[in-house]
Amino acid sequence: MSNIQHNDEHPLIEHPENEEQYTGLQVNAGIEMPPMVNPYMKKRKKRPQLSVNDYVEGIRKGNLSVLGQAVTLVESLIPEHQVIAQEVIEKCLPYTGDSKRIGITGVPGAGKSTSIDVFGLHVLEKDPANKLAVLAIDPSSERSKGSILGDKTRMEKLSVHPKAFIRPSPSAGSLGGVARKTRETIVLCEAAGYNNIFVETVGVGQSETAVHSMVDFFLLIQLAGTGDELQGIKRGIMEMADGICINKCDGDNVDRANLAANQFRNALHLFPVPPSGVTPEVTTYSGYYGYNIDKVWDMIDSYFDTVRKSGYFEEKRRQQEKYWMYETINEHLKSHFYSNPEIERLLNIKQEMVLDSKQSSFIAAADVLKYYFDSLTKQ
Ligand code: GDP
Repeated sequence: MSNIQHNDEHPLIEHPENEEQYTGLQVNAGIEMPPMVNPYMKKRKKRPQLSVNDYVEGIRKGNLSVLGQAVTLVESLIPEHQVIAQEVIEKCLPYTGDSKRIGITGVPGAGKSTSIDVFGLHVLEKDPANKLAVLAIDPSSERSKGSILGDKTRMEKLSVHPKAFIRPSPSAGSLGGVARKTRETIVLCEAAGYNNIFVETVGVGQSETAVHSMVDFFLLIQLAGTGDELQGIKRGIMEMADGICINKCDGDNVDRANLAANQFRNALHLFPVPPSGVTPEVTTYSGYYGYNIDKVWDMIDSYFDTVRKSGYFEEKRRQQEKYWMYETINEHLKSHFYSNPEIERLLNIKQEMVLDSKQSSFIAAADVLKYYFDSLTKQ
């Protein structure tokens, strides 16, 4: 029962249970509901919308907050954001190119994040003018909708280093789309003065091809100790590697790591000389204990020296530009096709027909494509 006595402050309100027949009960006026939102809280100022020039200027000055916002814009799926992002990228392009772009791959557990942390510090300590951006392409994000690679917490030292910028993998979209965004992020980072770019990926799928087509040097991190080192390594990934390093060459693993290195060297002899003209070197190191980090880096520096002199460096970057032009076209065509609701409807019908063996896959595909092309000419 309420213990509030009715008086001037708490008058009896009009309520059926306040009628005389109900004795012993009183319904008092309630107290005023407090506002849902704390009235004393200061309204958070909305971030002013930056113009294309604001973005470019901020990026050029190395403003981390503006760079971060620009990367978010690149990753956004909202068409208006994309328009601004493309303009920003276009304006940043003249300031890019003078960099070392290095792809780093290896199966989960190979020690990528541990190694990137020490490789990164090595690069930053080598020359005070160096800056480093760590980006990632994470193929699993499509399914999990969360990104794993490039996570700041995985790179303890770099994440607090003032000259390092770490950005996790964009998590939305197809692998092609994610890869394209990472590539566009490279442009922004380079315009902001990051002259070393690491792109990390898990060495298990197709994302290697995407990374390979945006970096100058592709480093494969391997492990020893399974006794059958070459098993499970996709031949394609080996062929893409410009250098291989065997991690965890420490403790009682040293002999096995050296043995694995020899096996890799022998295997690489069976491959044709890569287009760079440089046969990949194999080194052993320990990311955790920091052994031989300089050896890994000497291998990479010597590669850059050779390909810069031979002209392969420039040629590869030109070919990559061409690759990304076609990739972008493919991506847009696919998305234009699949995002059409009529096509979606027709595809559902055709899919059932193909599954029920009522129509062959070729005829079904031809029908859908005809519908699509006809609809284009009608527009
Ligand atoms: P990632 O999944 O490829 O990023 O691998 P991590 O960097 O997360 O490393 C996986 C595990 O291997 C962690 O427990 C690390 O501590 C360990 N690890 C990484 N590098 C080394 C190394 O050089 N030696 C040894 N013994 N362990 C290492």
